[in-house]
Amino acid sequence: MIRECILSELDFLPLLTPPEKQGKDSDHYFVFKDREILLISDEDSIFLPSADHLSSLGVDLQREQYLGEFRNSSCFAAKIADDFAENDSIIFEDLRKLPGIIGESMAAVAGRAVHLLEWDFNTLYCGRCSTATFRKEDERAKQCPDCGLLFFPKISPAIIVMIEKDDRILMARSPHFPSGRYGLIAGFVEPGESIEEAVVREVMEEVGLCITDISYFGSQPWPYPDSLMIGFTAKYRDGEIRFIDGEIEDAGWFSCDEIPHVPGSNSISGELVEYFMSRSRT
Ligand SMILES: [Zn+2]
Repeated sequence: MIRECILSELDFLPLLTPPEKQGKDSDHYFVFKDREILLISDEDSIFLPSADHLSSLGVDLQREQYLGEFRNSSCFAAKIADDFAENDSIIFEDLRKLPGIIGESMAAVAGRAVHLLEWDFNTLYCGRCSTATFRKEDERAKQCPDCGLLFFPKISPAIIVMIEKDDRILMARSPHFPSGRYGLIAGFVEPGESIEEAVVREVMEEVGLCITDISYFGSQPWPYPDSLMIGFTAKYRDGEIRFIDGEIEDAGWFSCDEIPHVPGSNSISGELVEYFMSRSRT
């Protein structure tokens, strides 16, 4: 693996059964209104609430789930009413801004929380017979009591690939991107194909190119709403850029100094582009 990622230990341990003693000051609550997370704001700092904060501020939790332990602190996810308003003590923040506020490791737990809350909310009823589902106690799953159908959290794998040609990489823009924004080729894996086949197909569909030397780079949970982004590097083999499926309106080869937009460094897209740039400078 190219990306530097040595996982000697995990910050977060997923668990199903909550501790007997809840409501400790060290507990963390990941409470969402739609896709924005509730944070406590005081004069000095902004932080995640504990159970005490929430009860003293009169926050009424819905669809609460126990997530597991983050560095020995119990973590819970819950939703609140859509009309709950900010006040002097409570603010709501975009999930993407969280790493800069509570740190990357804790923000990753927030991503896990919103992913599981949406799964729970989207599987209230059985899709086969419409009966209300229940949460299983022995695994992270829900089940229909009538027909027995199981509902596991949905994870949608998607690929993203940095394609190199000589000392340039391919960047492309979709019609819905903000003005001037370019990115790497990305797309969802289709049923029945391998991840590597998805890389080859997406590149052919979006820009009409053949690639070779496909190598795994790294992966990243992407809870917008339920993806796992799997990053690759590849080399151009042959073909001319052409837009086959209409998802791309412009694309080109960019050297390190010409890259029109460097994605955020807390995304695998940003890591891939920075990896290319760091090698170009050496
Ligand atoms: Zn059913």
